[in-house]
This record gives sequence, C-alpha cells and structure tokens, in this order.
Amino acid sequence: MKSQEEADKDRQLALYSLWVRNHFKDARHVVLVWHMLAFNKEMTSERTSEELKKLEKETIELIKEIESTKEFPASVSTLCDYCVYKNYCPSFRHETLIESKPIKQFEKDEGVKLVNSFAVLKEKEREVEEELTLVKDDLILFSKQEKIDVIYGSNKKVSVKEYEKFIIEDENKQKAEELLKKHGLFEQFTLVSWAKLNSQIAEDNIPKDIAKLAKKEKDYRVSLSKKKEEEE
Ligand code: SF4
Repeated sequence: MKSQEEADKDRQLALYSLWVRNHFKDARHVVLVWHMLAFNKEMTSERTSEELKKLEKETIELIKEIESTKEFPASVSTLCDYCVYKNYCPSFRHETLIESKPIKQFEKDEGVKLVNSFAVLKEKEREVEEELTLVKDDLILFSKQEKIDVIYGSNKKVSVKEYEKFIIEDENKQKAEELLKKHGLFEQFTLVSWAKLNSQIAEDNIPKDIAKLAKKEKDYRVSLSKKKEEEE
C-alpha cells in the first residue's frame, strides 16, 4: 500500500495534474487518485501551483541532464524480463551469447571458464575460513590441556595467549556515548567513517568543499551470485 508521504511525493501523477491544468485553464483544483486495487482502498493527494511550478522546473532540468548524458550504465530491474535489447546490454550480452552456442562451444567460452573457476575458489575460501576457525579452536583447547602457550609445528610455531577483553553490549552503547560526552572524552574515541563519507560523496550528499578533497578513481566490485533460473 502506497503511503501518504509517497503519494505526496509522486512525480508521475503530479505531471498528469500539470497537463490537466495546462489544458483546462478553468480547472480549480485537481485531485490525484490512486485506486489501490489489491487493498480495495483509494489514496489521494493534491499539489499547489507553486509545487507544480517547482516540479516543472526540476523535470526540465532532468530532461536536459538526460539529453546531455554520454554514459548509460545498465540499470537491472524486474523490467529486464521484458527487454528486447539484451543482445546489446552489458549485463545480459554474455548470457544471450552463450545461450546461442552449442554445449561444446559454451564450455570453451573464456567467460564461462572464469566464472566457474571463481565460484570454485570462493567456495574453497569459505571452506578454508570454516576450517581455520575449527583449527584455531583446537589450538586453544590443546594449549589449555597441555598448559603451554606456544605450540610447535615442523617449520612454524603458533602462540596462544589468553587475555581479557571488555565489550560494551549493544544495550549499553547509548549510555556509554552519553557518559563519554559528559566526561569530555567522546572525541577521543570516535573515528570518522571514511567508507561512509566516500559513499556519501559519491551520492553528492556532502558539501562541495569536503567533496573536493576526494580523489576520483575507477575500481571494480567483483561479486558472485546465482543465475536467475537457478534461484527459482
Ligand atoms: S536488459 Fe534492458 S532494461 Fe535491463 S538493464 Fe539491460 S538494457 Fe536495461
């Protein structure tokens, strides 16, 4: 169900309302109505002339931005199921290419081989991480049983040192923050979240004088996921 807030911000129906006002000058007020059939309810919203002028200005700016755009990154969504441009799309071109190949050629495809190797290595990485945790637990157990804190292997040794650590539980964190502030210690224990700042700069949510300090460079996120038909 659409919320009132979403309805009041909806651009599509507001643009229809702009059209109605432009074509029917005597219209005194235009009501935007959504018939939410799945909920058997109606949702209504209205826009003032000022809001519509602002929307018109923003939409024209957006049109200019779209018209001057030189890069069109793929935007994958459920609508892709109906798209007839998959042969050209960077997110689906490889899939359409391998689907058209006979099985022998499909297996020889460099991309297929790379993804298969990546999937096997990622699985091994997961298994190694699990094994590491188990061996670490056994090393701690062994050191306790033997009352030793260094365990020797053929070429390496492992040191197992017990230490005490303090953890502030989630339910006490807010109180701890308040007390740190009260004691004037807050600044000492807070860190800037650079990852969060960088992502906010990327989303243009940070004042320009700060954003100017960031260096822009290309990077790649390589992530593994299931193909759609396997998920279903
Ligand atoms: S398949 Fe079509 S709709 Fe989906 S991202 Fe590619 S071009 Fe866009």
